[in-house]
Amino acid sequence: MHQPPAARRSPALDAVIVGSGPNGLAAAVTLARAGLSVEVLEAQETVGGGARTLNLGLAADRPGASALLHDVCSAVHPMALASPFLLDFDLASRGVELAVPELSYAQPLDDEPAALAWRDLDRTTAGLGADGPAWKRFFEPFADHIEEIVWLSLGDKRSLPAALRSPAALARSTQFMARLFQQGTPAWNLPLRTEPARALFAGVASHAIGTLPSPATAAAAMLLATLAHGAGWPIPVGGSQAITDALAADLAAHGGTIRTGVLIETAADLPPARSYLLDTSAGTAARIWDASLPATARAGLTRFGHGDAAAKVDFVLSGPVPWRDPELTAAGTLHLGGTREQMVAAEAEVTSGRLPERPVVLVSDPTVADPSREVAGLRPLWTYAHVPAGCPVDVTEHITAQIERFAPGFRDVIVDSACVPASEMSEHNENYAGGDIAAGTVSLYRMVARPRLTWDPYSLGIPGVYLCSAATPPGPGVHGMNGWFAAQRALRHVFGLPVPSLAPGR
Ligand SMILES: Cc1cc2nc3c(=O)[nH]c(=O)nc-3n(C[C@H](O)[C@H](O)[C@H](O)COP(=O)(O)OP(=O)(O)OC[C@H]3O[C@@H](n4cnc5c(N)ncnc54)[C@H](O)[C@@H]3O)c2cc1C
Repeated sequence: MHQPPAARRSPALDAVIVGSGPNGLAAAVTLARAGLSVEVLEAQETVGGGARTLNLGLAADRPGASALLHDVCSAVHPMALASPFLLDFDLASRGVELAVPELSYAQPLDDEPAALAWRDLDRTTAGLGADGPAWKRFFEPFADHIEEIVWLSLGDKRSLPAALRSPAALARSTQFMARLFQQGTPAWNLPLRTEPARALFAGVASHAIGTLPSPATAAAAMLLATLAHGAGWPIPVGGSQAITDALAADLAAHGGTIRTGVLIETAADLPPARSYLLDTSAGTAARIWDASLPATARAGLTRFGHGDAAAKVDFVLSGPVPWRDPELTAAGTLHLGGTREQMVAAEAEVTSGRLPERPVVLVSDPTVADPSREVAGLRPLWTYAHVPAGCPVDVTEHITAQIERFAPGFRDVIVDSACVPASEMSEHNENYAGGDIAAGTVSLYRMVARPRLTWDPYSLGIPGVYLCSAATPPGPGVHGMNGWFAAQRALRHVFGLPVPSLAPGR
């Protein structure tokens, strides 16, 4: 049998996973549960990649500050209650408490009340006035059939999942795609006539950083807004690390190990194994396997480009954000950018390489859902701004001003803050080169041809070697689907084993 180069040194391990992000751990758990010996190698000193919660040493002179926790990347987890991988894994029965705010997300506006997306679709409809019925007509068919929409969005783009096989499901999927394509073009203004509803949709679309509107931003909006009116947008109690810790504990329970502080630069750094799964960027995968890769695969990996970026600011506050609209104190997540037109203009500046004066800013206040995050009167606030790729600017003032715009007096509750500019994002996670938190361009084409156009996007073209990160379908987010799909292929092709159950206690 043809084997990966490192395996020729008599493998002691069945599988080595490079990277301990949610996808690396999803792959590791799946393989370990199939009875294989698995080792995860992680460059950083802590486990979890984009799902880590750390004390950042902020407000160090304040009593209790050493217990303050910040989500260094992801904070809000619509996929935790929707991803087929995480649903099978069953976070709740493993003690992960997912606190779900009643107000999923909100869009503050300058001269009128904020637009609010409640979990309750009828409450949302009531608040959106003239556009309420249109919002309801738009999302109701999908909010009532979450499983289908999730499989449509989080599938491997290569197979037709069981949830989509009935004629009714196929009809709904067609309707979903038709709306998605409409919302990805200038025709996105057609169904919604008033500013609050239009801005609310633009805000949720901005989870995909890039031109508004575009098919990629529309896809993000359609999935996330549908989930907001379904299971909601949960915040794990204690932070995103709770998801990582549950995956790592299951791996350990099935004999898997994790070694941290191990940066893999070339294939020679890898221990012998029968299979390798890389939770890395496409570029890193190309660098590691280099000359062993078939030329077409290497060209495809190196051609996979990066998208625009995020610059993160973590704040410590002495109290809640003093939002002008009191309804906003219930929001777990807020999208700041003002009107639809203002957000379109800000994102256009970013795509043309300029840092806008008022960038689009995402905010999560975890204490709203999880009061345990407040320590001795101090609370963390998670924010990031959209910026051009590789932007070296400290955006603390940009974000502070954008929040102050909708929350006069915000500056008075700031105790401390720390910024990670886009240019430095890769220092704490190599996958986010230049601040691209999606680990590669997000477009409709790049959701299918991710990272390259081939029938098996997980295969790196070397038998037994797979890419399993967000640089593969279905793309970014903490859902574990990429890792799960890649592990299923390794099980089938390398080991001839069936896919194991993920159920707790098995
Ligand atoms: C600021 C920010 C906010 C986000 N917010 C959200 C959110 O609220 N909700 C959400 O669902 N998603 C969010 N995301 C996206 C989400 O975190 C990622 O899509 C997700 O973590 C991708 O998982 P992954 O396993 O593919 O890769 P990652 O989580 O990026 O993990 C990759 C791991 O591989 C390691 N690694 C890489 N190269 C090597 C190497 N050569 N050797 C050894 N180790 C290596 C890295 O150190 C890292 O630990 C956010 C991301 C960022 C950065």
